[in-house]
Amino acid sequence: MIDIRDLYKQFDEHEVLKGIDWRVEQGQVLCVIGPSGSGKSTLLRCINLLEIPTRGEIAVDEKRIVFGNRSPKEREIRELRGKTGMVFQNFNLFPHKTALENVIEGPLVVKKADRDRVVHRGRELLAKVGLADKEEAYPSQLSGGQQQRVAIARALAMEPEVLLFDEPTSALDPELIGEVLLTMKELAKEKQTMVIVTHEMEFARDVADQVVFMDEGKIVEAGPPSQIFSSPNRERTRRFLSKMP
Ligand code: ADP
Ligand code: MG
Repeated sequence: MIDIRDLYKQFDEHEVLKGIDWRVEQGQVLCVIGPSGSGKSTLLRCINLLEIPTRGEIAVDEKRIVFGNRSPKEREIRELRGKTGMVFQNFNLFPHKTALENVIEGPLVVKKADRDRVVHRGRELLAKVGLADKEEAYPSQLSGGQQQRVAIARALAMEPEVLLFDEPTSALDPELIGEVLLTMKELAKEKQTMVIVTHEMEFARDVADQVVFMDEGKIVEAGPPSQIFSSPNRERTRRFLSKMP
């Protein structure tokens, strides 16, 4: 579903991604862990082309872009981006729109889909994330956990092949983390392909098919959670995990 080859991203002189290679199969959940500044967000932002990689290749569901020799065309960016949906740490909802309006905005504006159908689907998605009764609420009237679940419904509304999560629970009060993780677990059960940057190790152990440990712009180690968490091969991974609560 996602195939990344020898991906580099440089900001001026600063090389942030240094040759990333990995694949995610359809229906898999991949969790990315690693210290702050290791390039996790940059990698996600490259996958949905919020950042343009310096060189390397990204393919999502057969749409492949090779970076380095020329700038990708608008159409290529649009096609690849349309295959991914992003959920951010700070929800990034439109503050002046209700929950339902947030969810239907993308399909209405970007896909120019039929309004009645989009509204119907939007309601289904809000119900799916447990917010059927909140469609008229504005973000400021919702808890952080509820806002993040609206953000998940909004990402799903675009029917992405892959959902990308960048520390989706890091901005939440501890008592609100569980409801968001539960929503994500349900998506995993439905075989939604997901890439999740997270510090929730228990969640990763539980839900991930594959865990990737990144440090300093490289993948140090990748494998099933049972291996990464119980018997990491690399000293660097061991040191990182030993500092986790
Ligand atoms: P992580 O998500 O693992 O904490 P990031 O991908 O956010 O790491 O950042 C990795 C490195 O890239 C950091 O040193 C950060 O300062 C740098 N960086 C990220 N985005 C930019 C940018 N837009 N311009 C310059 N440097 C950036
Ligand atoms: Mg980050």
